[in-house]
Amino acid sequence: MMRIKLLATPAIIILLFSLGFSLRRHPAHPPIENTSIWQNYEQYKEPAIQHRMVKHADMQPLITKHVSSGLLRSSVIGSSVQGRDIHHLIAGKGKIKVLLWSQMHGDESTATMAIFDIFNFLAAKDDNDRFRQLLKEKLELHFIPMVNPDGAEVWKRRNAMDIDINRDARSLTTPEARLLMKVADDIKPRFGFNLHDQNILYSVGSSAKPATISFLAPAYNHTREMNEVRQDAARLIVLMNHTLQKFIPDQVAKYSDAHEPRGFGDTFQKKGISTVLIESGGYRGDTQKQYIRKLNFYALLSALYAIASNAYENEKVEEYFAIPDNGRSLFNLVIRNAEISNENLRYRTSLGINYSTSVNISERRLNYRGVIEELGDMQNNYGYDEVEASSLVSLPGKIITMTKAEWEKLSLESEAQLLKQGYLYIRFSDQRSPTGPLQNRLLNLINGASTGARPPGLYQYPNFILAPPEGRPKYAVVNGFLVDLSKEIRPLPNTYGY
Ligand SMILES: [Zn+2]
Repeated sequence: MMRIKLLATPAIIILLFSLGFSLRRHPAHPPIENTSIWQNYEQYKEPAIQHRMVKHADMQPLITKHVSSGLLRSSVIGSSVQGRDIHHLIAGKGKIKVLLWSQMHGDESTATMAIFDIFNFLAAKDDNDRFRQLLKEKLELHFIPMVNPDGAEVWKRRNAMDIDINRDARSLTTPEARLLMKVADDIKPRFGFNLHDQNILYSVGSSAKPATISFLAPAYNHTREMNEVRQDAARLIVLMNHTLQKFIPDQVAKYSDAHEPRGFGDTFQKKGISTVLIESGGYRGDTQKQYIRKLNFYALLSALYAIASNAYENEKVEEYFAIPDNGRSLFNLVIRNAEISNENLRYRTSLGINYSTSVNISERRLNYRGVIEELGDMQNNYGYDEVEASSLVSLPGKIITMTKAEWEKLSLESEAQLLKQGYLYIRFSDQRSPTGPLQNRLLNLINGASTGARPPGLYQYPNFILAPPEGRPKYAVVNGFLVDLSKEIRPLPNTYGY
């Protein structure tokens, strides 16, 4: 008897071990990676939303569409300071309640776009029916898209009282914060998703990679303890991180977990709602955040599916802590080792250029204004764009004079020719020229005489030429935008009238 037991035990252990292993490899519910959801995304993407500056009025017909199709139950739970309806949308009939809310900061719309893509996915019928059926059967999904419609209307962070709604979870001064809190208190969700955008200059640790997505399992106290509630949020993050690494390798980071008792994530975590913060950051070339929207859509679906199938329980909390922290090593443009001549000084150094933005609400466009924000050793900094300029010297841009009528007739090709000759500014000979952002142009306008003659300097507007000594211009930097003069030249997002 004893002999048999001794022999049998290792065999049973091996059997159980391999069974468990095969269950993990072949779970009853295959993971999102085994579906065609990523490949089919264009079928789910909401075509009525093409740009980041989504407004409250854009959502209304989309909500109506999904309510009349029977996907969503919708109620207006109250209104914003300026009287815009706040919608509470419910999908699914499962036992596990999940609350997702977006755009409590009015200029952070990426997840709002993704939520309408998720609605289209849930409403579709195709070879992913098993996946969506599981979500609808196991989950009751509660959405509050665009918590801050007044901020969204003018593309600003705060609400119409100029209060940050995500710093209002404790005092509940704003109607928007009170509504979000009331929904959470009424439905008592098991999970929460707090959906935001972050500065695109956040990097993954000190690397050159942007933090395209950053996650946080917010802390419920100052000592940042981990309980089961917070651990489940961390497990979901580990799962989403695995999902995203395939598409954005090394571009996922972790947001600071300093406790913020005024924040909704921290407050909900304390209430026992496992809450995940998702911050959409930057991705090279994706100024409208349409690729990051797709990443949001996919990561959120992977998390919801993991909740519906309990798959998140297999994830290891330690892996959450292994995700690199958000860093600040990125600039919009880095020029390395350029020669600067400034009066009697001549030296080589690097320049870091960033853009500040202003909003043109009627045209739903952001205008950019470059500023030189760093000068010096930038070996540990990186740019979305970079130039190695160790064989180049920086030169002030030249000014060409013409009439306003001549400027109006100037073609893009003619402006490109002027850039190649080192001109960065046009001065009108017959009147003052307009100031502020200029669209569809390559050159700036200038009224004063001196600006053009200045070498690049700290906190100045980045307008200069880079050329080999005694050679023809190789690059132009116009309003902080890099133009490679040896390549096809396209209009810049905007130049500037000074
Ligand atoms: Zn935010």
